[in-house]
Amino acid sequence: MQGMKAFDVVRLYFDRAADQMDLTDNMRRLLLIPKREVQVQIAVEMDNGELATLLGYRVQHDNSRGPMKGGLRYHPEVDLDEVRSLAALMTWKTAVVDLPYGGAKGGIAVDPTRLSRRELERITRKFVDEIHDVIGPDRDIPAPDMGTGPEVMAWIMNQYEKYHGFAPACVTGKPVELFGVPGRDEATGRGVGIFALKLLSRLGRPPRGATVAIQGFGNVGSHAARFLHDAECKIIAIGDVSGDYFRADGLNLADMLKFAHEHRNSLAGYTGADRLGKAGSLLELDVDILIPAALGGVLTAENAARVKAPIIIEAANSPTHPAADEVFAANGIVVLPDILANAGGVTASYFEWVQNRQHYRWGLNRVRQELDRALGDAFEHVWRLSSEQKVSLRTAAYMLGIGRVGRATVLGGIS
Ligand code: NAD
Repeated sequence: MQGMKAFDVVRLYFDRAADQMDLTDNMRRLLLIPKREVQVQIAVEMDNGELATLLGYRVQHDNSRGPMKGGLRYHPEVDLDEVRSLAALMTWKTAVVDLPYGGAKGGIAVDPTRLSRRELERITRKFVDEIHDVIGPDRDIPAPDMGTGPEVMAWIMNQYEKYHGFAPACVTGKPVELFGVPGRDEATGRGVGIFALKLLSRLGRPPRGATVAIQGFGNVGSHAARFLHDAECKIIAIGDVSGDYFRADGLNLADMLKFAHEHRNSLAGYTGADRLGKAGSLLELDVDILIPAALGGVLTAENAARVKAPIIIEAANSPTHPAADEVFAANGIVVLPDILANAGGVTASYFEWVQNRQHYRWGLNRVRQELDRALGDAFEHVWRLSSEQKVSLRTAAYMLGIGRVGRATVLGGIS
């Protein structure tokens, strides 16, 4: 990320909040250094008979508030530094929403779009063979992230159970038919939509006709689009890895969802909208709400000054470089930080874990009600702290998260 490593970015945002809280250097070190980092070799035979040797990671950042929780990313750019930064974000995120969890993250450096389903399954099972001893319902509970979904989670559960017996709570984001919960798949995008409406209301704007641009049309981007479309916002631009699609009078969302569903979740070849020329230009459109919901590091010192949206919701993890964050603050752009903006997913994962442990099932309405309440409470808390302390929403969210983790660490005792 422009000369800064992913973990350095998290450290910088952490330090801004820690300065505000007068945290000692020793406490900062204790809260920042991960508890455990695991790197494993995943050797598998591919469909063509060739041997592939991949690298898999699991970083367990902090467990002072409960078992560690965090997604599993399959993407060619996954490395230890990125996983470490995402694990730390999970620690602050679970604390901001006040879930009884710590933070972790994992990943495999691989491009899942180039794998067959059988290869994906073999790689996933081999990864579980390597890490099953350090994960589990009371230790560390993986979930989906970029490049993984319910099917991968089902394989993880099945492979974990071969070693440890029946344990559906060892992973979340499972298919609804196999110990998953209705509403988990939409939860992150729904949360992003809920926060967008809350911010519009705080800024005195009605949702109806508010224009929206979304980068990413996967799990998070597509559900955020659906929620905001239902709230009568106007989605005018959506981008995915194949390009940016634009219609000034509003995209035909149902058509795009259908197209993506029929084309392995890709918009490549979609002709129902104009294509924007330069990669990244979606981020610079004159819209009311900008939602980066794909990769990290897309809002940079280079493009920040051209961003016109007054509201940015960080649906992706770490989309904003610190230099861009400063430009946004100077330009009066409100940024809802990732550790709050995309917390809907881990919150619904918590509901799934609770139900698995109780052998009880909630309906979709209850999942949505509890989700809306948990996210609403966290938003109010962060908004209030930001106004009282005269700090950005990001620094307020970090202060809330770090404060909770710090207190749990001290109360639990260190020696
Ligand atoms: P996904 O794999 O379902 O979708 C990713 C989307 O990003 C796809 O539409 C893909 O085409 C697009 N994309 C990839 N590279 C791109 C590029 N260079 N330019 C433009 N678009 C690109 O992933 P997801 O689960 O929707 O996750 C998206 C982001 O949200 C990630 O940063 C992830 O960490 C974060 N997140 C996800 C969840 C969750 O519940 N899935 C929870 C919290 C945070």
